[in-house]
Amino acid sequence: MKILVIGGGAAGMMAAVTAARLGSEVSIYEQNEKLGKKLFITGKGRCNLTNASDRDTHLAAVVSGARFLYSSQTRFDAAATMDFFEQLGVSLKTERGQRVFPTSDHSSDVIRALEYELKRLGVRIFLNTPVKELLTEEISGEGLTVEELTQEDAAKEEKKKSSGKKLSKCIGKITGIRLSDGSKVMADKVILATGGISYPLTGADGSGLAMAERSGHTVTKLYPALVPLTVAEPWISQLAGLSLRNVSVLIREGKKKLYEGFGEMLFTHRGVSGPLILSASSYVTTHFEPSGKGGDQAEKLLLQIDLKPGLDEETLDKRLIRELEEAKTKQVKNMMGSLLPSGMIPVVLDMAGVPAEEKACDVNKQQRRALLQTLKSFSLTINGTEGFDQAIITKGGVKTGQIDPATMASKLVKGLYFAGECVDVDALTGGFNLQIAWASGFAAGNAAATEGEKI
Ligand SMILES: Cc1cc2nc3c(=O)[nH]c(=O)nc-3n(C[C@H](O)[C@H](O)[C@H](O)COP(=O)(O)OP(=O)(O)OC[C@H]3O[C@@H](n4cnc5c(N)ncnc54)[C@H](O)[C@@H]3O)c2cc1C
Repeated sequence: MKILVIGGGAAGMMAAVTAARLGSEVSIYEQNEKLGKKLFITGKGRCNLTNASDRDTHLAAVVSGARFLYSSQTRFDAAATMDFFEQLGVSLKTERGQRVFPTSDHSSDVIRALEYELKRLGVRIFLNTPVKELLTEEISGEGLTVEELTQEDAAKEEKKKSSGKKLSKCIGKITGIRLSDGSKVMADKVILATGGISYPLTGADGSGLAMAERSGHTVTKLYPALVPLTVAEPWISQLAGLSLRNVSVLIREGKKKLYEGFGEMLFTHRGVSGPLILSASSYVTTHFEPSGKGGDQAEKLLLQIDLKPGLDEETLDKRLIRELEEAKTKQVKNMMGSLLPSGMIPVVLDMAGVPAEEKACDVNKQQRRALLQTLKSFSLTINGTEGFDQAIITKGGVKTGQIDPATMASKLVKGLYFAGECVDVDALTGGFNLQIAWASGFAAGNAAATEGEKI
């Protein structure tokens, strides 16, 4: 079987190794000068390559596409990923939150192991080689239009899923690829593993998604996810660099709760970031323009930060009364150190309308109540995201309804497979996104090497 893999990232390399181990003749086409450019910067250069938790935890961390991923994640789970890399000689360690890293803390070790295995298996690697087009031909007699097929699929999919039958209608079959110099490379199977459009400097330019679209697939609207959020309050820059641990946040649109969570966050020059906010962003990003930029016209969401989630209002009020009494003639700003990091104190006092220089014993009940409210609900107005340049992941991609979840095969073009972030799936941080890349790459490589007849 002659298989071409477009994209030498995590998913593409896993697909290529898997297919080559099954005896296929495999080539990878990568537009960058090296393989795994995005993989290199993952986990701040340490590569959080999976999460040592069970399948249900993985699926719970998937924001879009959990049902679709059930099959591939069951077949190739976190334990399989760890075995795979350990067998390639990459020693692994598990850290807080079950995050798995190479013991060396170097993502380059993960890339090197994959490259070594690709070379050992005789996979041909073409670097600096952008693929421009998928070559397909119509299958005569089965010529349904995409619209017809999509409508039919929607109705039939549910029924067929339960009977275990595969959808058989295709509008074409793959014959190969065209490169940027115009040359054609013919093949039996093609695996598209071109990633999303976040961190464009790593090669994520959306060209793969455009090719998928031109071959008849639907690409859903793309949004930046796991991305810092911007806020409307101009004074936010005063807090830039300050991080908060053990806070809870609530994001709402009017009365509707969009996200609730607990953890660590930090302030940036234009807004908020950190693990808790990145997770939150995956649930709110679709409220903003994909370009991410906020502004007067942008939708506004309310971010409420509970700075003291461990204390209910009554307990916190009692503590404030006690501390104000004990501090007596001290300025109120000097008694807040036990409650807040120093950088937050002037902003919180200002928001509560309590003069920072006021003596603790002069703080009246109304001011104390305002302080209590601000500590329990420090509110900001989210007006956008930092966009794809700073997004860890792309939300959106090739529509999952057009892909067989067990094999990652296109339902529209025979012999075409998808793997990784180019598909409309996304997950939270913690190694879950790379696990999607490994598992879908494995499924695609396996199916491409074993499914159907040689063309
Ligand atoms: C800063 C950062 C940190 C991250 N950290 C983690 C982490 O620690 N853990 C985790 O689980 N996830 C992490 N992620 C997410 C993770 O990197 C992605 O989910 C994963 O890389 C997706 O793999 P992929 O193979 O689908 O896409 P990619 O890794 O983006 O690979 C796609 C490849 O295709 C190539 N390509 C695209 N178009 C063409 C074309 N037309 N012709 C030829 N080649 C093409 C690109 O150059 C690229 O090399 C992080 C992401 C970022 C940006």
